[in-house]
Amino acid sequence: MIKAKKSLGQNFLINESIIDKILNIVDIKNKTILEIGPGSGNLTSGILNKEPKKLIVIEKDENLVELLKDKFQKKIQILNEDVLKVDENILDNEILTVFGNLPYNISTEILSKWILNIKDENFWFDNLILMFQKEVADRIISDFNCKNYGRLSILVNWKLDVEKICDVKPKSFFPKPKVDSSILFFKPKKNIFKLNNPKNLEKITRIFFMHRRKMIKKPFNQLFNGNTKIASKMDIDLNKRPQNLNYKTYLKLTDEYEKLIS
Ligand code: SAH
Repeated sequence: MIKAKKSLGQNFLINESIIDKILNIVDIKNKTILEIGPGSGNLTSGILNKEPKKLIVIEKDENLVELLKDKFQKKIQILNEDVLKVDENILDNEILTVFGNLPYNISTEILSKWILNIKDENFWFDNLILMFQKEVADRIISDFNCKNYGRLSILVNWKLDVEKICDVKPKSFFPKPKVDSSILFFKPKKNIFKLNNPKNLEKITRIFFMHRRKMIKKPFNQLFNGNTKIASKMDIDLNKRPQNLNYKTYLKLTDEYEKLIS
């Protein structure tokens, strides 16, 4: 029996029906698949049974890498790396379908990095099927005017369509995590709003959401030097709160900001 490392967010998925559900969301046969954090390989086995063209896995834990090598031999390509340090844009020539029961302590970091690194519409994946802590998943799928809406949903909505597949209870994992989980399914959007630098979207949302309950007048003035003409042109009521603006408005605001600083 392998000992799970808490520091690496190791909660191995053991519920077969959840594994089946994950495996039946998209076609795997003859596709090139990437799995993040394969752990002891429960999901990995299921993916292999579906006969992908190729399966690449990224696992940071050396001990688990040894175990995976024994278990799967040449059937999978193993990268013993930190997923945050891998350049996902050059992993493979083919478009990848990605699976991952993510380490929860870095799940938002992984997703944000991937989104920020996509050059315009050059997606390196066609599907992302990822397990998050439920509370994080709720933030990702939240719509504007809702309690959980914020920077993460705006960033995700910019480039991806997202759908919740289901929630997953702690008892589906070993060891049991303290929190509920959710499986999300992401697909690239078409006609992505163009920005010069995605970091500007991050900056705008960081400043707007600094005080969630306050009116947006102050952050707006800070970013646009009190030029309220921009707000009236965009039909933005500065007495609203940050969560009342939809993601498209944040993209347009970022565009205006980029014009201002260029
Ligand atoms: N997918 C497996 C295990 C999920 S637990 C299962 O469902 O059974 C999270 C996995 O991610 C663990 O195997 C852990 O070692 C790995 N991991 C943690 N941090 C990582 C990182 N930075 N890069 C790559 N893998 C990581």
